[in-house]
Amino acid sequence: MAAHEQPALSIVIPCYNEAEVLPLLRERLTQALDKLRLTWEVVLVDDGSGDTTFAQLTAAHRADARFKAVALSRNFGHQAAICAGLAHATGDAVAIMDADLQDPPEILGSCLEKLRGGFDVVYAVRRKRKENILLRCAYAIFYRLLKSIAEIEIPLDSGDFCVVNRNVADVLRRMPERNVFLRGLRAWSGFRQTGLEYERAARAAGETKYPFRKLLRLALDGVFAFSTAPLRLATYLGFTVVLAALGTGLFIVSWRLAGFSFMGHTAHELPGWTAVVGAALFFGGVQLLILGILGEYLARIYAEVKQRPRWVVRETLGVTPAPDAPSAGLKP
Ligand code: UDP
Ligand code: MG
Repeated sequence: MAAHEQPALSIVIPCYNEAEVLPLLRERLTQALDKLRLTWEVVLVDDGSGDTTFAQLTAAHRADARFKAVALSRNFGHQAAICAGLAHATGDAVAIMDADLQDPPEILGSCLEKLRGGFDVVYAVRRKRKENILLRCAYAIFYRLLKSIAEIEIPLDSGDFCVVNRNVADVLRRMPERNVFLRGLRAWSGFRQTGLEYERAARAAGETKYPFRKLLRLALDGVFAFSTAPLRLATYLGFTVVLAALGTGLFIVSWRLAGFSFMGHTAHELPGWTAVVGAALFFGGVQLLILGILGEYLARIYAEVKQRPRWVVRETLGVTPAPDAPSAGLKP
């Protein structure tokens, strides 16, 4: 492949402290990709790793120039790292996958086949997961909840692992949002999409880089970026509470006026402490919850308004960003 030529396939891989798995990844990728008999490049994004990840990426690039790298100035997070990779990937088709080999590179061939068959997006659907049961339940509930409230159709159990053609890659690359939930944006982009089932392997080496805190943040980004249903919750809850309050009010008035005994007491004995405290706590809770939801949107609006770059590049190996690369990325 001449230097100016675009490869047929780019693979974008975010890496955060993945030194342990990189040798394995290189080997599996080279083997699987060479079998495809096409030109390829792998754009590895070092998301501010503190281990020897970048040294390994440098060695990989020296040994085989098809391995390219973008090093970010610090840890910007998985989704931002993918966006940085997309900004530098030049292939006619672009694949996104994790570094830990949970997404087998061997199925890229079947994905490309589907692209050739006329699809623009082929996303991988996890048939089986190897994570623990609690996490699996949490994932299942989250995807179903998101599907029920999201304004667009986000396919169930599809992660970021996908292959898209140049059109879609450009749409994703130019997306100006700061709170990125890529699997949602991919569905949002439209075009002809199809899923491909695969069995998700366990992480090949090293430990997860997604502590619960980051996972929760991603899930919240997904919900708040693709649904305003939580905002409507306030309206519905408000209605319900007003109706309940009206009913209670009517009851109390008739209780007092008619003077009948309820739970062994008449209204005149005013035994209502528990009820009053209970109601105060309940409404306090409802208000905090609604405030919190407003806050979630507000924080995201704030992040968008600040227009800070989504990532900053420290150095690159073998890549130059596309001329119209997003305003979101900064290169010193
Ligand atoms: N990752 C990243 N930045 C982060 C966290 C994770 O680039 O801040 C990368 C990580 O190197 C891996 C991918 O995102 O390639 C998915 O992370 P991981 O496999 O640890 O997540 P899990 O599969 O456990 O949910
Ligand atoms: Mg993983």
